[in-house]
Amino acid sequence: MIRVQTVAPDSLGAELGLVPGTELLSINGQPLDDFLDWEFLAADDAFLLHARLPSGDEIEYDIERPEDLPLGVALEPPRIRRCANHCDFCFVDGNPQGLRPALYIRDDDYRLSFRYGNFATLTNLKPKDVARIIAYHLSPLYVSVHATDTTVRRWLLRNPEAPPIVPQLREFAAGGIAFHTQVVLVPGVNDGAVLEGTLDDLYGLGEAALSVSVVPVALTEFSKHQLVRALTREECRAALDLVDRIAGRAMAERGSPWCWGSDELYLRADQALPPAAWYGEFDQRENGVGAVRWLETRIAAARPRLPDLGGRRIGVVTGAAMAPLFPAVLAGLAAATGGRYEVIEVANTLFGESVTTAGLLPGGAIVAALGGRADLDLALLPAEAVNDDGRFIDDLDAHDLAAAVPMPVMLSHDCADALTEVGTRNAERGTSETGSSAFRVRRSALGEGQG
Ligand code: SF4
Repeated sequence: MIRVQTVAPDSLGAELGLVPGTELLSINGQPLDDFLDWEFLAADDAFLLHARLPSGDEIEYDIERPEDLPLGVALEPPRIRRCANHCDFCFVDGNPQGLRPALYIRDDDYRLSFRYGNFATLTNLKPKDVARIIAYHLSPLYVSVHATDTTVRRWLLRNPEAPPIVPQLREFAAGGIAFHTQVVLVPGVNDGAVLEGTLDDLYGLGEAALSVSVVPVALTEFSKHQLVRALTREECRAALDLVDRIAGRAMAERGSPWCWGSDELYLRADQALPPAAWYGEFDQRENGVGAVRWLETRIAAARPRLPDLGGRRIGVVTGAAMAPLFPAVLAGLAAATGGRYEVIEVANTLFGESVTTAGLLPGGAIVAALGGRADLDLALLPAEAVNDDGRFIDDLDAHDLAAAVPMPVMLSHDCADALTEVGTRNAERGTSETGSSAFRVRRSALGEGQG
């Protein structure tokens, strides 16, 4: 059963008398379990909808709608499917107290994998889920493989029931489902020969396996350090050698590297990042693969629309992972705008300094870093650090943050987006201000856990 959250005014749904709280029971006699059933079954131009109004009245609607006319019905959020694993490196288990409640949920949900690109292990799939993925053609999926060796994978996931992943993926491939995959690399467990075997096995799945990312395990101050440690520089280099080997083969045979190391893997290996062209469509950018090169590409593309900032001072807030890489990116931005940029590296006061990604920066740490900086004309904050409700990981509202610091702030995915907006606004007003009304909240999903 699914329930209506809102109904758009003047929509077909409103005309039918659907109201918030209405339970949507079935379409053409087929029960509605979740939003996927609703989206797929209600996509037809004509169908019978059985619903129960908040008054308790049950009604059957015989719906016919002109092509493409939306029903205007938004559903209550789905109940998230919980994870059946207990990885030693689980981000959620390592979360300190005081975060948004959602950050304590270990999700492993194939529906969110399809919809939002969250990585899922697929260890909690039932036969009817597999059938549904194929029937609804939920492609591509994002799958945390980690290792194709079943024993190693079960060890990593701390789940003795985890089904062998290769047959699972083979079944999806045969059903027309493609997938992006990731390997979270844990030293001494799935690196070396295990990683080599994993990459070979995934490559052997053919075109359905769209990409592989190899990502070093991320640990926080609260992780189980007695069980898992970070990779050394040499281990990162060894992993990149294996990535390069399979990528070279894929380039020769398929015309794409297919397998990428994350930016952080290069950083920890103390090796230069590949050029932007190596990343193709930046398929796994959200997973930290090619994020730096993507940023450079975006800034270069926005160059004609960037404003003249005439020496104004712009602070760019980021975490320790990106901070050493940003100056090269910002040099291009300075040349294009005449602004003076400063990287403001913020330490993660919530998880500890070992957590270096900008997406996990607590709002309170950003306030502390910017609080005394009256010399800045504008600060750009990482948009990926706020969730859909505009809240940072420590539950601080982005508007409250904006009110607590002395300069205008903007959420930004790539610097170019925010500065283009400044330029557009200045052109409309005929000014060259960065402006006290510069604050904008841009929505961004925050991936939870490492899948
Ligand atoms: S890391 Fe992901 S798969 Fe592992 S226990 Fe946490 S949520 Fe589950």
